[in-house]
Amino acid sequence: MRLAVVGAAGRMGGALIRAVTEMDGVELCGAVERAGAEAIGADAGVVAGIPPLDIPVTDDPLPVFAAADGVLDFTAPSATRGFAELAAQARCVHVIGTTGMTEEDVEAIRPAARHARLVKSGNMSLGVNLLAALVRRAAAALDEDFDIEVLEMHHRHKVDAPSGTALLLGDAAAAGRGIDLAGHSVRVRDGITGARERGDIGFATLRGGSVIGDHSVILAGPLETLTLSHHAQDRSIFARGAVKAALWARDRKPGLYSMADVLGLAD
Ligand code: NAD
Repeated sequence: MRLAVVGAAGRMGGALIRAVTEMDGVELCGAVERAGAEAIGADAGVVAGIPPLDIPVTDDPLPVFAAADGVLDFTAPSATRGFAELAAQARCVHVIGTTGMTEEDVEAIRPAARHARLVKSGNMSLGVNLLAALVRRAAAALDEDFDIEVLEMHHRHKVDAPSGTALLLGDAAAAGRGIDLAGHSVRVRDGITGARERGDIGFATLRGGSVIGDHSVILAGPLETLTLSHHAQDRSIFARGAVKAALWARDRKPGLYSMADVLGLAD
């Protein structure tokens, strides 16, 4: 499967290029960055910290998408909206790891799923998707006497909060409880907030250093607390998951899929 990486010079872009060159059944066919990026014209391998691949990073996605069977996209919401349209036109698989997308952003990419296969997830690792399935189960088993709080920490460069993974875990908890996350989430607390509302799902965000991604879901009940956690040790877990998602989606019908679908964890 011929895969292109967009956002090639980013932290995840490098991890994706390395994963594509290391994994079976896939080859890198192009690397795209935004116009004006320092990496334009540089070799994609060198940009990713590996030997040259003879693939220059370009700011023109059109010929790259035309030659690709799939596109791996961990960029920014506005960029991902544009790439979804291009991927649908080129009929290639679009794997979206970009986080911080609003409801409006998600609605904007939905039409692309009529013609193309999209896999979108706030976290592409096996561990976090399994954690989400466990959180759903725990939230279903425990009633509202157990307060649910999602705690996350990421490196100092991260621009969105709470993380896509924290929201994915919050969604899993809400699904387990049979409620809508939007109507029950508390994303910020400051000052005299009043007592915690029964049934709320709270979020707390930490930022610092080079932390790749730590998440805990705390279910705090009367006299006992259950904590379910995941610690990411390397970005390659997300990159390898993205490549697996592309391979999985290749033979599917057009649609918008999640990583839980890819891993067989959806119900
Ligand atoms: P980053 O800032 O290091 O990289 C993003 C790259 O995208 C940059 O190089 C930027 O120049 C490029 N870019 C932006 N607009 C572009 C455009 N129009 N065309 C081409 N390239 C463009 O960020 P990062 O740490 O690599 O994270 C990227 C995204 O992936 C974030 O939203 C992050 O939260 C998300 N992420 C998701 C997962 C997951 O498993 N789903 C894991 C890690 C990170």
